[in-house]
Amino acid sequence: MITFKNVTKTFENGTEAIKGIDLHIKKGKLVVIIGPSGCGKTTTMKMINKLIHPTSGVIAIDGKDISGQKEVELRRSIGYVIQRIGLFPHMTIEENVALIPKLKGFKKEAYKEKVDELLKLVGLEPSLYKNRYPLELSGGQQQRVGVVRALAGEPPIILMDEPFSALDPISREQLQDELKLLQETIHKTIVFVTHDMDEALKIADEIVVMKDGLIEQIATPQELVQGP
Ligand code: ADP
Ligand code: ADP
Repeated sequence: MITFKNVTKTFENGTEAIKGIDLHIKKGKLVVIIGPSGCGKTTTMKMINKLIHPTSGVIAIDGKDISGQKEVELRRSIGYVIQRIGLFPHMTIEENVALIPKLKGFKKEAYKEKVDELLKLVGLEPSLYKNRYPLELSGGQQQRVGVVRALAGEPPIILMDEPFSALDPISREQLQDELKLLQETIHKTIVFVTHDMDEALKIADEIVVMKDGLIEQIATPQELVQGP
């Protein structure tokens, strides 16, 4: 569903961040991109929603080259979760989550129900939490809301860039479990960037190992643990 063909990215300052990668990300899979800091994980991810444009090569979604697609339209079908999610502080949890469904013109009754359903999925009882403001929630709870917000517009693809890195170890483990469950329930295509191998082994269907702007290996967690 997402394919990279011989993609490179050289930044204006001459940094060759991506040196030619081929990648197929299958529909409904949770794919983790892992590798040391600076190896090109974030650059790879940001090329999928056109936050960064490749220098050469082709990226296609469902067979359609994204270079010709409008960024706004493309991003409607791609949820994005980053390390510090940045909920809008003056909006309640419900308002934050409903933002994208509203923009997309979903009917109020439909998205109200959706918000409740998603909050329940990540263990936030709607009646207790939806009328609160982000700063009244813990970091882990806010990050759960960030994940829910990315899902609320029902995008087929979700990009997650170190989404749990700022959390304490317990919240982090819980969110990994929840994401895995969520993935088994909703079957979204998820591309997840991390530098933490334990996290990758725990949640991934497939692991893409990057090094120095190249893909070094693509394997399942089992294959990585057992070795060649
Ligand atoms: P990772 O996510 O694996 O830590 P990045 O994709 O962020 O790595 O970065 C890959 C390389 O490209 C690094 O050397 C980084 O410094 C460089 N880089 C990233 N963004 C830019 C940019 N906008 N301009 C110049 N160099 C960049
Ligand atoms: P695009 O491919 O979308 O044009 P750019 O290469 O212009 O993206 O990067 C966007 C901006 O991000 C750059 O202007 C740069 O200032 C900034 N930036 C982000 N990360 C880095 C980095 N590691 N080193 C230098 N600049 C960075």
